[in-house]
Amino acid sequence: MNYISTRNKELKLTAAEAIKKGLSDDGGLFVPEAFPRLKKADIQKLAGMSYIERANFILKLFLTDFTDAEIAKCTEGAYGDGSFSSEKVAPLVKIGESEYILELWHGPTCAFKDMALQILPHFMTTAMKKTGEDKTVVILVATSGDTGKAALEGFRDVDGTRIIVFYPSDGVSDMQKRQMITQDGANVGVFGIRGNFDDAQNGVKKIFTDKKIIKELDKNGFVLSSANSINWGRLLPQIVYYVSAYCDMVEGGEIENGDKINICVPTGNFGNILAAYYARKMGLPVNRFICASNRNNVLTDFLRSGTYDRNRDFYQSISPSMDILISSNLERLLFDASGCDDKKIRELMDKLAKDGKYTVTKTMHNRIGKLFWAGCCDDYFTKVRIFNTFADSGYTPDTHTAVAIDVYRQYVEQTGDMTKTVIASTASPFKFAGSVLSALGVEPYGSDDFEQLDLLGEKTDMDIPGSLEALRQKPARFTEIIDAKDMYPAIKSALGK
Ligand SMILES: *Cc1c(COP(=O)(O)O)cnc(C)c1O
Repeated sequence: MNYISTRNKELKLTAAEAIKKGLSDDGGLFVPEAFPRLKKADIQKLAGMSYIERANFILKLFLTDFTDAEIAKCTEGAYGDGSFSSEKVAPLVKIGESEYILELWHGPTCAFKDMALQILPHFMTTAMKKTGEDKTVVILVATSGDTGKAALEGFRDVDGTRIIVFYPSDGVSDMQKRQMITQDGANVGVFGIRGNFDDAQNGVKKIFTDKKIIKELDKNGFVLSSANSINWGRLLPQIVYYVSAYCDMVEGGEIENGDKINICVPTGNFGNILAAYYARKMGLPVNRFICASNRNNVLTDFLRSGTYDRNRDFYQSISPSMDILISSNLERLLFDASGCDDKKIRELMDKLAKDGKYTVTKTMHNRIGKLFWAGCCDDYFTKVRIFNTFADSGYTPDTHTAVAIDVYRQYVEQTGDMTKTVIASTASPFKFAGSVLSALGVEPYGSDDFEQLDLLGEKTDMDIPGSLEALRQKPARFTEIIDAKDMYPAIKSALGK
Protein backbone atom coordinates (compact mmCIF):
# COMPACT_ATOMS: atom_id res chain seq x y z
CA MET A 1 0.00 0.00 0.00
CA ASN A 2 1.25 3.47 -0.90
CA TYR A 3 0.98 6.78 0.91
CA ILE A 4 0.15 10.06 -0.82
CA SER A 5 0.45 13.68 0.32
CA THR A 6 -2.71 15.68 1.12
CA ARG A 7 -1.21 18.43 -1.05
CA ASN A 8 0.00 16.23 -3.92
CA LYS A 9 -1.79 13.00 -4.85
CA GLU A 10 0.82 12.12 -7.47
CA LEU A 11 3.53 11.65 -4.85
CA LYS A 12 3.60 8.01 -3.75
CA LEU A 13 5.71 6.64 -0.90
CA THR A 14 5.95 3.33 0.93
CA ALA A 15 4.98 3.26 4.61
CA ALA A 16 8.65 3.06 5.61
CA GLU A 17 9.48 6.16 3.58
CA ALA A 18 6.46 8.07 4.90
CA ILE A 19 7.36 7.27 8.52
CA LYS A 20 11.02 8.16 8.05
CA LYS A 21 10.14 11.45 6.37
CA GLY A 22 7.33 12.56 8.72
CA LEU A 23 6.12 15.54 6.70
CA SER A 24 5.92 15.80 2.91
CA ASP A 25 8.19 18.37 1.20
CA ASP A 26 5.09 20.15 -0.16
CA GLY A 27 3.97 20.75 3.44
CA GLY A 28 1.21 18.12 3.18
CA LEU A 29 0.58 15.13 5.44
CA PHE A 30 0.89 11.51 4.37
CA VAL A 31 -2.32 9.48 4.11
CA PRO A 32 -2.96 5.92 2.88
CA GLU A 33 -3.97 5.78 -0.77
CA ALA A 34 -6.89 3.52 0.17
CA PHE A 35 -8.21 2.16 3.47
CA PRO A 36 -8.15 -1.58 4.15
CA ARG A 37 -11.49 -3.09 5.24
CA LEU A 38 -12.23 -4.79 8.53
CA LYS A 39 -14.94 -7.39 8.07
CA LYS A 40 -17.45 -8.41 10.72
CA ALA A 41 -15.74 -11.78 10.89
CA ASP A 42 -12.37 -10.07 11.46
CA ILE A 43 -13.79 -8.22 14.46
CA GLN A 44 -15.20 -11.48 15.82
CA LYS A 45 -11.76 -13.05 15.51
CA LEU A 46 -9.98 -10.03 17.04
CA ALA A 47 -12.40 -10.04 20.01
CA GLY A 48 -10.78 -13.21 21.27
CA MET A 49 -7.23 -11.86 21.01
CA SER A 50 -4.79 -9.91 23.19
CA TYR A 51 -3.97 -6.24 22.56
CA ILE A 52 -0.68 -7.12 20.86
CA GLU A 53 -2.36 -9.66 18.57
CA ARG A 54 -5.03 -7.12 17.64
CA ALA A 55 -2.29 -4.55 16.92
CA ASN A 56 -0.35 -7.01 14.74
CA PHE A 57 -3.47 -7.70 12.66
CA ILE A 58 -4.34 -4.04 12.07
CA LEU A 59 -0.81 -2.68 11.56
CA LYS A 60 -0.15 -5.36 8.95
CA LEU A 61 -3.02 -4.01 6.80
CA PHE A 62 -1.28 -0.61 6.59
CA LEU A 63 2.43 -1.49 6.77
CA THR A 64 2.44 -3.75 3.73
CA ASP A 65 6.17 -3.24 3.19
CA PHE A 66 6.96 -4.56 6.73
CA THR A 67 7.28 -8.32 7.35
CA ASP A 68 5.14 -10.06 9.99
CA ALA A 69 8.29 -10.57 12.08
CA GLU A 70 9.17 -6.88 11.90
CA ILE A 71 5.66 -5.83 12.97
CA ALA A 72 5.63 -8.35 15.83
CA LYS A 73 8.99 -7.02 17.04
CA CYS A 74 7.59 -3.47 17.05
CA THR A 75 4.43 -4.34 19.00
CA GLU A 76 6.27 -6.57 21.50
CA GLY A 77 8.85 -3.86 22.07
CA ALA A 78 6.17 -1.23 22.63
CA TYR A 79 3.38 -3.00 24.51
CA GLY A 80 5.06 -6.15 25.85
CA ASP A 81 7.68 -6.51 28.61
CA GLY A 82 5.65 -4.67 31.25
CA SER A 83 6.02 -1.12 29.91
CA PHE A 84 2.25 -0.70 30.40
CA SER A 85 0.89 -1.10 33.91
CA SER A 86 -2.36 -2.66 32.67
CA GLU A 87 -2.21 -6.10 31.13
CA LYS A 88 -4.95 -5.02 28.72
CA VAL A 89 -2.78 -2.01 27.68
CA ALA A 90 -5.87 0.16 27.05
CA PRO A 91 -8.64 -1.05 29.40
CA LEU A 92 -12.29 -0.02 29.11
CA VAL A 93 -14.18 1.00 32.28
CA LYS A 94 -17.97 1.35 32.37
CA ILE A 95 -19.04 4.38 34.46
CA GLY A 96 -22.67 4.88 33.45
CA GLU A 97 -25.64 3.55 31.50
CA SER A 98 -24.07 4.34 28.11
CA GLU A 99 -20.60 5.63 29.12
CA TYR A 100 -17.39 3.64 28.71
CA ILE A 101 -14.03 5.21 29.57
CA LEU A 102 -11.12 4.03 27.41
CA GLU A 103 -8.05 4.50 29.61
CA LEU A 104 -5.09 5.33 27.37
CA TRP A 105 -2.67 6.35 30.12
CA HIS A 106 -1.22 3.16 31.54
CA GLY A 107 2.11 3.70 29.77
CA PRO A 108 5.36 4.96 31.33
CA THR A 109 4.52 8.70 31.29
CA CYS A 110 0.84 8.48 32.35
CA ALA A 111 -0.56 10.24 29.24
CA PHE A 112 -2.03 8.81 26.03
CA LYS A 113 0.98 9.98 23.98
CA ASP A 114 2.68 6.75 25.11
CA MET A 115 0.28 4.65 23.00
CA ALA A 116 2.01 5.99 19.87
CA LEU A 117 5.41 7.12 21.15
CA GLN A 118 6.26 3.73 22.63
CA ILE A 119 5.99 2.15 19.17
CA LEU A 120 7.16 5.00 16.89
CA PRO A 121 10.89 4.43 17.67
CA HIS A 122 10.52 0.78 16.61
CA PHE A 123 8.75 1.82 13.39
CA MET A 124 11.46 4.42 12.80
CA THR A 125 14.45 2.08 13.22
CA THR A 126 12.74 -0.58 11.08
CA ALA A 127 12.00 2.04 8.42
CA MET A 128 15.64 3.23 8.48
CA LYS A 129 16.84 -0.33 7.93
CA LYS A 130 14.36 -0.96 5.12
CA THR A 131 15.27 2.23 3.29
CA GLY A 132 19.00 1.56 3.63
CA GLU A 133 19.61 4.54 5.90
CA ASP A 134 22.85 3.96 7.85
CA LYS A 135 23.05 7.26 9.72
CA THR A 136 22.04 7.84 13.32
CA VAL A 137 18.60 9.51 13.51
CA VAL A 138 18.49 12.55 15.73
CA ILE A 139 14.96 13.26 16.94
CA LEU A 140 14.41 16.90 17.85
CA VAL A 141 11.37 17.78 19.95
CA ALA A 142 10.03 21.11 21.17
CA THR A 143 7.46 20.36 23.84
CA SER A 144 4.90 22.11 25.99
CA GLY A 145 4.91 19.12 28.35
CA ASP A 146 3.50 15.68 27.56
CA THR A 147 5.05 14.96 24.14
CA GLY A 148 8.64 15.61 25.25
CA LYS A 149 8.56 13.13 28.10
CA ALA A 150 6.71 10.48 26.09
CA ALA A 151 9.21 10.84 23.22
CA LEU A 152 12.17 10.59 25.65
CA GLU A 153 10.79 7.41 27.18
CA GLY A 154 10.05 5.96 23.75
CA PHE A 155 13.45 6.64 22.19
CA ARG A 156 15.54 6.08 25.33
CA ASP A 157 18.40 3.66 24.52
CA VAL A 158 16.92 2.72 21.13
CA ASP A 159 19.83 1.71 18.88
CA GLY A 160 20.64 4.06 16.04
CA THR A 161 18.76 7.01 17.56
CA ARG A 162 19.46 10.10 19.65
CA ILE A 163 16.75 12.27 21.14
CA ILE A 164 17.04 15.90 22.20
CA VAL A 165 14.15 17.76 23.84
CA PHE A 166 13.71 21.51 24.36
CA TYR A 167 11.07 22.82 26.77
CA PRO A 168 10.22 26.39 27.85
CA SER A 169 11.86 26.60 31.29
CA ASP A 170 8.91 28.43 32.83
CA GLY A 171 6.17 27.03 30.61
CA VAL A 172 5.67 23.47 31.87
CA SER A 173 4.24 22.14 35.14
CA ASP A 174 6.65 21.19 37.95
CA MET A 175 5.79 17.53 37.55
CA GLN A 176 6.34 17.66 33.76
CA LYS A 177 9.71 19.39 34.25
CA ARG A 178 10.74 16.88 36.89
CA GLN A 179 9.77 14.02 34.56
CA MET A 180 12.08 15.40 31.85
CA ILE A 181 15.15 16.58 33.77
CA THR A 182 15.49 13.24 35.56
CA GLN A 183 15.31 11.25 32.29
CA ASP A 184 17.41 8.05 32.07
CA GLY A 185 19.15 6.84 28.94
CA ALA A 186 22.51 7.10 27.18
CA ASN A 187 21.15 8.71 23.98
CA VAL A 188 19.05 11.52 25.50
CA GLY A 189 19.50 15.28 25.96
CA VAL A 190 17.13 17.78 27.63
CA PHE A 191 17.43 21.58 27.64
CA GLY A 192 15.30 24.34 29.12
CA ILE A 193 14.83 27.39 26.88
CA ARG A 194 14.59 30.95 28.19
CA GLY A 195 11.31 31.89 26.50
CA ASN A 196 7.93 30.31 25.76
CA PHE A 197 6.85 27.24 23.78
CA ASP A 198 6.77 29.18 20.50
CA ASP A 199 10.44 30.17 20.97
CA ALA A 200 11.37 26.52 21.45
CA GLN A 201 9.27 25.40 18.48
CA ASN A 202 10.56 28.13 16.16
CA GLY A 203 14.14 27.28 17.12
CA VAL A 204 13.61 23.62 16.25
CA LYS A 205 11.87 24.50 12.97
CA LYS A 206 14.79 26.74 11.99
CA ILE A 207 17.28 23.95 12.55
CA PHE A 208 15.17 21.54 10.45
CA THR A 209 15.33 23.92 7.48
CA ASP A 210 18.95 25.15 7.87
CA LYS A 211 20.84 23.59 4.97
CA LYS A 212 24.25 24.33 6.52
CA ILE A 213 23.37 22.59 9.76
CA ILE A 214 21.85 19.61 7.93
CA LYS A 215 25.03 19.24 5.87
CA GLU A 216 27.31 19.46 8.89
CA LEU A 217 25.27 16.86 10.76
CA ASP A 218 25.25 14.63 7.68
CA LYS A 219 29.05 14.76 7.55
CA ASN A 220 29.15 13.52 11.14
CA GLY A 221 26.76 10.64 10.39
CA PHE A 222 23.52 12.17 11.69
CA VAL A 223 20.13 12.75 10.06
CA LEU A 224 17.33 14.78 11.66
CA SER A 225 13.79 13.52 12.18
CA SER A 226 10.70 14.45 14.16
CA ALA A 227 8.36 12.68 16.58
CA ASN A 228 5.63 15.22 15.96
CA SER A 229 2.00 14.11 15.89
CA ILE A 230 1.66 14.63 12.14
CA ASN A 231 3.90 11.60 11.50
CA TRP A 232 1.83 8.68 10.13
CA GLY A 233 3.73 6.43 12.55
CA ARG A 234 2.05 8.23 15.43
CA LEU A 235 -1.46 8.15 14.01
CA LEU A 236 -1.55 4.50 12.96
CA PRO A 237 -1.10 2.95 16.45
CA GLN A 238 -4.02 5.08 17.64
CA ILE A 239 -6.43 3.35 15.23
CA VAL A 240 -5.69 0.09 17.05
CA TYR A 241 -7.12 1.08 20.43
CA TYR A 242 -10.49 2.11 19.01
CA VAL A 243 -10.86 -1.24 17.28
CA SER A 244 -9.64 -2.90 20.48
CA ALA A 245 -12.24 -1.05 22.58
CA TYR A 246 -15.01 -2.22 20.24
CA CYS A 247 -13.69 -5.79 20.49
CA ASP A 248 -13.72 -5.55 24.28
CA MET A 249 -17.37 -4.45 24.18
CA VAL A 250 -18.26 -7.41 21.96
CA GLU A 251 -16.20 -9.80 24.07
CA GLY A 252 -17.77 -8.50 27.31
CA GLY A 253 -21.33 -8.81 25.94
CA GLU A 254 -21.93 -5.04 26.15
CA ILE A 255 -22.86 -4.93 22.45
CA GLU A 256 -23.49 -7.38 19.61
CA ASN A 257 -20.88 -7.47 16.85
CA GLY A 258 -22.23 -5.01 14.24
CA ASP A 259 -23.94 -2.64 16.71
CA LYS A 260 -22.97 1.00 16.31
CA ILE A 261 -21.19 2.96 19.03
CA ASN A 262 -20.30 6.64 19.49
CA ILE A 263 -16.76 7.85 20.22
CA CYS A 264 -16.05 11.01 22.23
CA VAL A 265 -12.50 12.48 22.31
CA PRO A 266 -10.90 15.41 24.17
CA THR A 267 -9.20 17.10 21.24
CA GLY A 268 -6.19 19.35 20.60
CA ASN A 269 -4.21 18.66 17.43
CA PHE A 270 -7.07 16.46 16.07
CA GLY A 271 -4.83 13.34 15.95
CA ASN A 272 -6.65 11.15 18.43
CA ILE A 273 -10.16 11.77 17.07
CA LEU A 274 -8.91 11.38 13.48
CA ALA A 275 -7.62 7.91 14.36
CA ALA A 276 -11.15 7.03 15.50
CA TYR A 277 -12.53 8.34 12.20
CA TYR A 278 -10.00 6.18 10.32
CA ALA A 279 -11.18 3.12 12.29
CA ARG A 280 -14.69 3.86 10.99
CA LYS A 281 -13.37 4.19 7.44
CA MET A 282 -12.04 0.64 7.86
CA GLY A 283 -15.53 -0.51 8.74
CA LEU A 284 -15.76 -0.18 12.53
CA PRO A 285 -19.47 0.47 13.25
CA VAL A 286 -19.53 4.07 14.53
CA ASN A 287 -22.57 6.33 14.58
CA ARG A 288 -21.15 9.67 15.74
CA PHE A 289 -17.84 11.29 16.74
CA ILE A 290 -18.10 13.82 19.55
CA CYS A 291 -15.29 16.37 19.47
CA ALA A 292 -14.65 17.94 22.89
CA SER A 293 -12.67 21.18 23.33
CA ASN A 294 -11.83 23.37 26.30
CA ARG A 295 -12.14 27.17 26.25
CA ASN A 296 -9.85 27.20 23.18
CA ASN A 297 -12.84 26.15 21.07
CA VAL A 298 -11.63 26.80 17.52
CA LEU A 299 -12.69 23.25 16.53
CA THR A 300 -16.19 23.61 18.02
CA ASP A 301 -16.73 26.73 15.93
CA PHE A 302 -15.31 25.11 12.81
CA LEU A 303 -17.36 21.92 13.04
CA ARG A 304 -20.53 23.97 13.60
CA SER A 305 -19.99 26.72 11.03
CA GLY A 306 -17.56 25.42 8.39
CA THR A 307 -15.21 28.36 9.04
CA TYR A 308 -11.86 27.78 10.72
CA ASP A 309 -10.57 30.99 12.30
CA ARG A 310 -7.45 31.03 14.48
CA ASN A 311 -7.60 34.82 14.93
CA ARG A 312 -8.73 34.73 18.53
CA ASP A 313 -7.39 34.94 22.09
CA PHE A 314 -5.37 32.02 23.38
CA TYR A 315 -6.26 30.84 26.88
CA GLN A 316 -4.17 28.85 29.32
CA SER A 317 -6.46 26.24 30.82
CA ILE A 318 -6.29 23.44 33.38
CA SER A 319 -6.34 21.00 30.41
CA PRO A 320 -3.13 22.42 28.85
CA SER A 321 -2.56 19.62 26.31
CA MET A 322 -5.67 20.87 24.49
CA ASP A 323 -4.59 24.52 24.47
CA ILE A 324 -4.05 24.78 20.75
CA LEU A 325 -5.21 27.11 17.96
CA ILE A 326 -3.91 25.24 14.92
CA SER A 327 -5.07 21.62 14.75
CA SER A 328 -2.62 20.20 12.20
CA ASN A 329 -4.26 16.83 11.68
CA LEU A 330 -7.55 18.42 10.61
CA GLU A 331 -5.93 18.68 7.17
CA ARG A 332 -6.29 14.92 6.78
CA LEU A 333 -10.05 15.07 7.48
CA LEU A 334 -10.45 17.94 5.02
CA PHE A 335 -8.65 15.91 2.37
CA ASP A 336 -11.20 13.13 2.80
CA ALA A 337 -14.19 15.46 2.94
CA SER A 338 -13.09 17.14 -0.28
CA GLY A 339 -13.02 13.79 -2.10
CA CYS A 340 -9.18 13.76 -2.06
CA ASP A 341 -8.95 17.15 -3.80
CA ASP A 342 -5.27 18.05 -3.23
CA LYS A 343 -5.69 21.37 -5.05
CA LYS A 344 -8.50 22.42 -2.70
CA ILE A 345 -6.36 21.51 0.33
CA ARG A 346 -3.46 23.62 -0.95
CA GLU A 347 -5.85 26.51 -1.37
CA LEU A 348 -7.33 26.17 2.15
CA MET A 349 -3.92 25.77 3.82
CA ASP A 350 -2.54 28.78 1.94
CA LYS A 351 -5.47 30.80 3.25
CA LEU A 352 -4.78 29.56 6.78
CA ALA A 353 -1.13 30.59 6.52
CA LYS A 354 -1.98 33.98 5.02
CA ASP A 355 -5.20 35.07 6.77
CA GLY A 356 -5.36 32.66 9.70
CA LYS A 357 -8.75 31.41 8.46
CA TYR A 358 -10.61 29.54 5.76
CA THR A 359 -14.14 28.33 4.95
CA VAL A 360 -14.82 24.88 3.50
CA THR A 361 -17.39 24.22 0.77
CA LYS A 362 -21.01 23.38 1.66
CA THR A 363 -20.51 19.82 0.46
CA MET A 364 -17.46 19.36 2.67
CA HIS A 365 -19.21 20.87 5.67
CA ASN A 366 -22.26 18.62 5.17
CA ARG A 367 -20.12 15.50 4.94
CA ILE A 368 -18.25 16.39 8.13
CA GLY A 369 -21.40 17.53 9.97
CA LYS A 370 -23.14 14.17 9.41
CA LEU A 371 -20.46 12.41 11.45
CA PHE A 372 -19.01 14.96 13.88
CA TRP A 373 -20.78 16.68 16.76
CA ALA A 374 -18.81 19.33 18.66
CA GLY A 375 -18.94 21.01 22.03
CA CYS A 376 -16.72 22.78 24.57
CA CYS A 377 -16.35 23.27 28.30
CA ASP A 378 -14.42 25.90 30.32
CA ASP A 379 -12.27 25.38 33.44
CA TYR A 380 -15.16 25.98 35.85
CA PHE A 381 -17.36 23.28 34.29
CA THR A 382 -14.36 20.96 33.94
CA LYS A 383 -13.94 21.08 37.71
CA VAL A 384 -17.67 20.65 38.34
CA ARG A 385 -17.59 17.59 36.06
CA ILE A 386 -14.66 16.06 37.98
CA PHE A 387 -16.52 16.60 41.26
CA ASN A 388 -19.81 15.16 39.96
CA THR A 389 -18.24 12.18 38.22
CA PHE A 390 -16.43 11.22 41.40
CA ALA A 391 -19.56 11.74 43.50
CA ASP A 392 -21.89 9.82 41.13
CA SER A 393 -19.74 6.91 39.99
CA GLY A 394 -16.59 6.94 42.15
CA TYR A 395 -14.51 7.46 39.01
CA THR A 396 -11.79 10.16 38.98
CA PRO A 397 -11.17 11.68 35.55
CA ASP A 398 -8.21 13.95 34.85
CA THR A 399 -8.90 17.49 33.58
CA HIS A 400 -8.76 16.52 29.86
CA THR A 401 -11.01 13.49 30.28
CA ALA A 402 -13.46 15.61 32.30
CA VAL A 403 -13.85 17.99 29.34
CA ALA A 404 -14.83 14.98 27.21
CA ILE A 405 -17.32 13.65 29.78
CA ASP A 406 -18.91 17.09 30.08
CA VAL A 407 -19.27 17.55 26.34
CA TYR A 408 -20.66 14.02 26.04
CA ARG A 409 -23.37 14.89 28.60
CA GLN A 410 -24.20 18.03 26.57
CA TYR A 411 -24.55 15.79 23.52
CA VAL A 412 -26.96 13.41 25.26
CA GLU A 413 -29.01 16.28 26.61
CA GLN A 414 -29.35 17.92 23.20
CA THR A 415 -29.85 14.84 21.04
CA GLY A 416 -31.33 12.22 23.38
CA ASP A 417 -29.02 9.69 21.69
CA MET A 418 -28.27 6.92 24.17
CA THR A 419 -26.00 4.90 21.86
CA LYS A 420 -23.22 3.31 23.90
CA THR A 421 -20.25 5.66 23.83
CA VAL A 422 -16.52 5.19 24.23
CA ILE A 423 -14.94 8.26 25.88
CA ALA A 424 -11.19 8.54 25.39
CA SER A 425 -9.36 9.18 28.67
CA THR A 426 -6.05 10.80 27.80
CA ALA A 427 -4.20 11.26 31.10
CA SER A 428 -3.98 9.82 34.60
CA PRO A 429 -5.57 12.15 37.19
CA PHE A 430 -2.23 12.00 39.04
CA LYS A 431 -0.55 13.87 36.20
CA PHE A 432 -2.77 16.89 36.94
CA ALA A 433 -3.16 16.24 40.66
CA GLY A 434 -3.33 19.90 41.77
CA SER A 435 -6.33 20.77 39.57
CA VAL A 436 -8.08 17.46 40.31
CA LEU A 437 -7.68 17.93 44.09
CA SER A 438 -9.01 21.45 43.93
CA ALA A 439 -12.00 20.20 41.87
CA LEU A 440 -12.68 17.52 44.48
CA GLY A 441 -12.66 20.18 47.19
CA VAL A 442 -9.65 18.79 49.07
CA GLU A 443 -8.25 21.76 51.05
CA PRO A 444 -5.47 22.58 51.42
CA TYR A 445 -4.51 20.73 48.29
CA GLY A 446 -0.79 20.91 48.83
CA SER A 447 1.81 23.08 47.17
CA ASP A 448 4.35 20.31 46.82
CA ASP A 449 3.95 17.89 43.86
CA PHE A 450 4.50 14.78 45.91
CA GLU A 451 2.21 15.91 48.72
CA GLN A 452 -0.47 16.32 46.01
CA LEU A 453 0.10 12.74 44.81
CA ASP A 454 -0.31 11.46 48.37
CA LEU A 455 -3.47 13.49 48.96
CA LEU A 456 -5.06 12.37 45.68
CA GLY A 457 -4.20 8.74 46.43
CA GLU A 458 -5.89 9.03 49.84
CA LYS A 459 -8.97 10.81 48.52
CA THR A 460 -9.62 8.47 45.58
CA ASP A 461 -8.22 5.23 46.95
CA MET A 462 -6.20 4.84 43.75
CA ASP A 463 -2.57 3.72 43.57
CA ILE A 464 -0.05 6.42 42.67
CA PRO A 465 1.47 5.45 39.28
CA GLY A 466 4.89 3.86 39.83
CA SER A 467 6.63 6.08 37.30
CA LEU A 468 5.54 9.28 39.12
CA GLU A 469 6.28 7.76 42.54
CA ALA A 470 9.81 6.89 41.37
CA LEU A 471 10.56 10.56 40.62
CA ARG A 472 10.79 11.25 44.35
CA GLN A 473 14.17 9.53 44.51
CA LYS A 474 15.54 10.67 41.16
CA PRO A 475 18.28 13.31 41.00
CA ALA A 476 18.08 16.02 38.32
CA ARG A 477 20.37 15.12 35.42
CA PHE A 478 19.65 17.92 32.93
CA THR A 479 19.61 21.33 34.56
CA GLU A 480 20.99 23.43 31.71
CA ILE A 481 18.90 26.45 30.67
CA ILE A 482 19.90 28.10 27.39
CA ASP A 483 18.89 30.97 25.09
CA ALA A 484 16.86 29.91 22.05
CA LYS A 485 19.63 31.14 19.76
CA ASP A 486 22.04 28.62 21.31
CA MET A 487 20.07 25.50 20.39
CA TYR A 488 22.47 24.26 17.74
CA PRO A 489 25.55 24.46 20.01
CA ALA A 490 23.47 22.56 22.61
CA ILE A 491 22.66 19.87 20.05
CA LYS A 492 26.33 19.55 19.14
CA SER A 493 27.38 19.18 22.75
CA ALA A 494 24.66 16.57 23.33
CA LEU A 495 25.88 14.64 20.30
CA GLY A 496 29.47 14.94 21.52
CA LYS A 497 30.60 16.85 18.42
C1 LIG B 1 -2.02 15.52 23.42
C2 LIG B 1 -3.18 15.41 24.39
C3 LIG B 1 -4.52 15.64 24.01
C4 LIG B 1 -4.91 16.07 22.60
O1 LIG B 1 -4.76 15.05 21.67
P1 LIG B 1 -4.75 15.37 20.09
O2 LIG B 1 -4.39 14.10 19.43
O3 LIG B 1 -3.69 16.43 19.92
O4 LIG B 1 -6.09 15.88 19.71
C5 LIG B 1 -5.53 15.46 24.97
N1 LIG B 1 -5.23 15.12 26.23
C6 LIG B 1 -3.95 14.90 26.65
C7 LIG B 1 -3.70 14.54 28.08
C8 LIG B 1 -2.87 15.03 25.75
O5 LIG B 1 -1.61 14.83 26.19
